[in-house]
Amino acid sequence: MNEPLTTVRGLAHASTQASRPSACPGLMRIVPARDGGLCRIRLAWGELSAAQARVVAQVSLESGSGFIDATNRANLQIRGVTEERDAQEALVSRLVDAGLGPDTPDSDDQRNVMSGPLAGLDSHALLDVVPLVSTLIGQMQRDARLHLLSPKFALMVDGGERLAMLDHPHDVWLSAISADRFVFGLAGCPPQSENDAPALAAVKAGPVPELVNALLHTFLDLAQPWQTRMRDLLATYSIEEILGRVQENLGFALDRDVEHWRRPASDARLRFGVRRQGTGDSVCVGAQVPLGRLDAATLLALADLAPRLRMTPWQSVMLLDVPSADAQAVVDQLAALGLATNPDEPFARLIACAGSQGCAKSFADTKADARVLARSMPPKGDVHLSGCARSCAAAHRVATTLMAVAPGRYDLYGNAPEALARHLTIEQAARWLARSHLDA
Ligand code: SF4
Repeated sequence: MNEPLTTVRGLAHASTQASRPSACPGLMRIVPARDGGLCRIRLAWGELSAAQARVVAQVSLESGSGFIDATNRANLQIRGVTEERDAQEALVSRLVDAGLGPDTPDSDDQRNVMSGPLAGLDSHALLDVVPLVSTLIGQMQRDARLHLLSPKFALMVDGGERLAMLDHPHDVWLSAISADRFVFGLAGCPPQSENDAPALAAVKAGPVPELVNALLHTFLDLAQPWQTRMRDLLATYSIEEILGRVQENLGFALDRDVEHWRRPASDARLRFGVRRQGTGDSVCVGAQVPLGRLDAATLLALADLAPRLRMTPWQSVMLLDVPSADAQAVVDQLAALGLATNPDEPFARLIACAGSQGCAKSFADTKADARVLARSMPPKGDVHLSGCARSCAAAHRVATTLMAVAPGRYDLYGNAPEALARHLTIEQAARWLARSHLDA
């Protein structure tokens, strides 16, 4: 969406929050937006400690607008970062010292590996993918050639958790099919129905890093400069040509007999409320961040509620390691902070992109309009407000999309590519949604 405004090399300095050697500087990009610079913080498996959350909140107050976005890749981004160079360097330095930067310079973008919010915490999962995700992120950071990949080039590793975002297309996706085997695919999602494109091949868990390495280097070998994503390459090369190249670089044979595998459904509602965390006495407590936007005070309050936080691809948060005896009190405090703790609440079913306050491309103030719509949402159904056709806030399909066409005006889409209604005000859209809910 945005070109880099600047890159800032984190400067080593003593920090009480340091969780990795401060002798390791890193580059984090700050990209321009209408409301100032945007500093993306990539979180391995979406997780940050309470101490790291406090650092993010503090630097957002010191060098940004005090607002932080929860993204649909389970990351955070600090909004409104000043253009002042020293302040930017101080911000990046604090993040790097807190363990929120890359391991090596110039590799921040190579941490684009998403996993489920309950990775390693769901006793129903087939395996804990956290160590594998950690290995893949480390491998991609260390390999300088892989730094040529687009910042948007993204991987997904699925351990078979009951809560998983399965509808975000990824350049490479891997899903566990047993405790020691994965299937994988390119430029898409794990198949869930008979109509979905099947997995391409299966591989034992041990050689997955070797497979991913071969896939990424094959992509770089074949891609022309304008082909930045796997789907672009597939417009030129067939799956068989790409897999043939990959196979040449592997020390084992790919098992292609996976055509009938389908991923069991996940339940997105499990991101709300209290869930058992593994097999111990702790629980995790989840809630939706309204419209994906936190202020620093709220993030600080969340850090006081639990020692670890996991961000999710639904722009929500799960608080980890909460003693089960405290669970209801934590739910109540999340609600008091304005987060949606119940999947039927309007703000649990509404998403909106940055809108005209944060993005020059937007035709409307989507977040303000979404707040108006929240007051009259029908009791069921998800709605996505998008400032333009890029649809940044929703990588997955949403039941209803309101596409801005002018300030306060939207075209309304359902499943079909044709609009169901045009140039609606928010109030008209609310009435349209209420009628369609009654007709359903
Ligand atoms: S979808 Fe929203 S945030 Fe993305 S480019 Fe369009 S207006 Fe900007």
